[in-house]
Amino acid sequence: MICADLHVHTSYSPDASINPKTIVDQLYAHPFIKAAAITDHNTVEGYNKARELASVYEDILLIPGAEVSTVNGDVIVLGIAELPPKPWTVKNVINFAKEKGALTIAAHPYRAFGLGDLTRKCGVDAIEVLNGASLPNVNKLAENLAREMHLPGVAGSDAHQANDLWTVYTEIQASSDVDEILRAIKNGLVKVASTGTSRRF
Ligand SMILES: [Zn+2]
Repeated sequence: MICADLHVHTSYSPDASINPKTIVDQLYAHPFIKAAAITDHNTVEGYNKARELASVYEDILLIPGAEVSTVNGDVIVLGIAELPPKPWTVKNVINFAKEKGALTIAAHPYRAFGLGDLTRKCGVDAIEVLNGASLPNVNKLAENLAREMHLPGVAGSDAHQANDLWTVYTEIQASSDVDEILRAIKNGLVKVASTGTSRRF
């Protein structure tokens, strides 16, 4: 089993301030969260930088990804260090991800910039049911939706500042390997949890 924060921003996102080195250092030092998905807004540069820095550490894993601002709402794509071609409609992004064998997650569906009820028919692989930057009531709506749709529910801090890292995480029945992790998420071998450090809940 591996514990992963599946939604982390670096300073390569225009609205975030976390140095990729901070993520690598903190992941290395963390007692049990040993994997993080780098999900910057519409770029994979932060992931590339963090991966370079992490290459000297054996026991941490960075998962490539991006949070794509589609015209319909935010979609997290995990497993590829490249952006889908434009135009970024939810349909195009999900089709691209499927072609590449990547995983798609409806990020905070009921918060601003979420897919909302469109999540029901867009074909995502999983739903973010515990977002560290969302209030409990909107996380609850996302959790209900995942249950109703029989889709896996995942967690990520959505950290934009270093203090917000690792507030929540996903326990995944997989070893420290990106493909295995993505497969396990698709198969629902996941459980969400909180470290109790969030300022929101
Ligand atoms: Zn985000």
